[in-house]
Amino acid sequence: MQIKTILNRIQNFKSFVYEKVRLVENSAIPTLEISLRARSNSKPICSCCGRQGPGYDRTPERLFEFVPMWGHKVYFRYAPRRVDCPSCGVRVERMPWVSGKRRLTETYAWFLAGWAKRLSWKEVAEAFRTTWDHVFCSVERAVDWGRKQQDLSGIEAIGVDEIQWHRGHQYLTLVYQIDPHCKRLLWIGKNRKVKTLLGFFRWFGRDRTQELRYICSDMWKPYLKVITKKAAQAIHILDRFHIMAHLSKAIDEVRAGEVKELKAKGLEPVLTKSRWLLLKRPENLTDNQETKLTELLQYNLKSIRSYLLKEEFQLFWEYVSPYWAGQFLDKWCTKTMRSKITPMKKVAKMLRRHRPLLLNWFKAKKQFSSGVVEGLNTKVKLTTRKSYGFRTYKATEIALYHALGTLPIPKTAHEFF
Ligand SMILES: [Zn+2]
Repeated sequence: MQIKTILNRIQNFKSFVYEKVRLVENSAIPTLEISLRARSNSKPICSCCGRQGPGYDRTPERLFEFVPMWGHKVYFRYAPRRVDCPSCGVRVERMPWVSGKRRLTETYAWFLAGWAKRLSWKEVAEAFRTTWDHVFCSVERAVDWGRKQQDLSGIEAIGVDEIQWHRGHQYLTLVYQIDPHCKRLLWIGKNRKVKTLLGFFRWFGRDRTQELRYICSDMWKPYLKVITKKAAQAIHILDRFHIMAHLSKAIDEVRAGEVKELKAKGLEPVLTKSRWLLLKRPENLTDNQETKLTELLQYNLKSIRSYLLKEEFQLFWEYVSPYWAGQFLDKWCTKTMRSKITPMKKVAKMLRRHRPLLLNWFKAKKQFSSGVVEGLNTKVKLTTRKSYGFRTYKATEIALYHALGTLPIPKTAHEFF
C-alpha cells in the first residue's frame, strides 16, 4: 500500500491529486514531502471571492506542513496558480488544505489544537517538534472557528465568577453557562468592573438575556448592579462557593493578625502552621490534624471562635424553606456581630445586606450547588497555572476558551485526532 492511497482515503481534494511522496535526504529531522498538482481540467478558484476564473500564471513552489507521521515531518509541496479574476484582478488561488497565507495545513492546525487540550502548549510543541507559536496560532484558529460556530440557544442559567490574574494584580471576569445539561465557559473579560460585565451582556444580546432564568454570582457590587439592570427577570443567586470563600478569607485575616499579636507578646506560637486546620472541613482532616485541632480548640482564640462560626454557618445551606433559612441567617449575623472579631463582623454585615439574594438560593430549590461554579473555577486555575508561558491576556483568553468553552470542531478534524 502506498502513502498516497491512505491520503486519498482520509484527505481527498476534488480538484487536486497527490503526485509523489519523497523522502528528503540529509534533513536534520526525517522529512517526507508530498507533491500535489491541480487536475489538468480544473480551473483555479479566486482566494478573494471564491469564484473560478482563468489561470494567469504559477507562483514558486511552497511547503505546507501536514500532520507528522512515524517520526517524520510531513509537508505538502505545491506551486499555487494565480487566477485572472474578473472581479478581483490577479489573485492567488484558493487551496483547500490551507487558509490564507498560512504555512500550516488546516488539518495539522486542528491536530495540534486537539493535543493542546490534553497537554500544555509547550509539551505539544516538543512532542511534535514544532514551535510554541505554531501551537498558539493553531489553538487561536480553533477557538475563533469554534466561537463563531457555537450554539448559544437555550441558555437559562449562568454563573459570573472572577479570578486573579497576572500574579494577583489584575482580575478577569468569567461567565459560565451552568445549566444541568451544559456547563461551559461562555465569555471572558478583563477586570471586574461595571463596564466589564456590561461587555458580556452586549455580546450575549438582549434576546438571549431575556431568556435567562438564573444567575449565580458573588456579592461583588459592580456585578450585582449590572445583573439587576440587565436581567431583572432572572432569579439572582449568591452561590455558596463564593460566600464560603469570603468566610475563609476572614478567618485567614483573623489568624494572621492573631499570630502577630501572640508573637509580640512572646507567647508560644500555637497558631503557626494551623492555617489548613481552620480552613478545611472537619471531615477532610487527617488524624494528625484532628488531634492538633482538638488541642487548638482549648484556647479561646479569635481564630478558633471564627472557625466555629464558619462551621456553624454551614448549617444555613441545609435548610429547605427560605423562611427558616432567613431566621437562621439573622441569628447567626447577630451572634457574629457580638463576637467583636472585625473581619467576621464585616462578612456578617455583608450577608445582612444581601439577605434577599441569599435566600434566592432556596427559592431556586438549591438547583445550583456550589459545585458547579467551584468546579469550573478550579479548572480555570489549573489551566492558567499550566500555562506559565502565557504572559499576555490574549494567550490566557484563548487557552481558557479552548479548555473550558466546549467549542465545536469540524467533522474532518476528528479523523486525525
Ligand atoms: Zn475574485
